[in-house]
Amino acid sequence: MTALHLLRVARVKPDISPVGHGDGHAAGGAGAIEGQNFQRVHEGFGHWHRRDNAGKLVLMDIVPIAPPEFDVDVALAYATPANITGQPVYRNARCWLRRTAAQHLQRAIALAAPLGLRLRIFDALRPTEAQWMLWNARPDPEFLADPRRGSPHSRGVAVDLTLLDRAGCELDMGTPFDAFTPRSHHGDISVSVEAQQNRLLLLGLMTAAGWDFYRNEWWHYQLFDPRRFPLVADADLPERMM
Ligand SMILES: [Zn+2]
Repeated sequence: MTALHLLRVARVKPDISPVGHGDGHAAGGAGAIEGQNFQRVHEGFGHWHRRDNAGKLVLMDIVPIAPPEFDVDVALAYATPANITGQPVYRNARCWLRRTAAQHLQRAIALAAPLGLRLRIFDALRPTEAQWMLWNARPDPEFLADPRRGSPHSRGVAVDLTLLDRAGCELDMGTPFDAFTPRSHHGDISVSVEAQQNRLLLLGLMTAAGWDFYRNEWWHYQLFDPRRFPLVADADLPERMM
């Protein structure tokens, strides 16, 4: 049964009791919201929903990524005009991931820390509306997922990031974030040896933490099989970004 199918079942019968399978973390945080009239729905991979006052199902497995819970530097590029659209895509610079992805991020943070490194996040959960804005500005399937198919970012299970040294300076990765050029590809040897080493360091940390990589973008990592996670629109978020 697909996650979508289970979601349909869940909408009809919303108090299915949670059962732990898949990532084994499903029984986590939804109960943390106390005093609210919410219903917990298990959709197959730890996707939690509650009903808001209008009776609409709201995702509950969306975790805010911010210090001190997550020792990262959040610098969302799409909350500034310095992105391919030339204007801020996010009105509200919030960084979110699905719980499973957030747990993978914690592993990467823990692996980087003993090396004196921290992660700087350029983008994480990207509402479907934002993917359309980026796609309309640059409909290039080499570097952007067609919003009709859905980006892993819009499923809340992808993150764009780089490494910071002890002084808080970005390691040289050979190109900036979102440089849509072959020089951004993994395995490109036209960038400096130092940049190649830094990319491989990030690749090693992230893959050891359980992430999959995308060969055309040194900064992009995502969970395996991202299509098992439904797309997230701005209105699905605990707090709107757009
Ligand atoms: Zn990305």
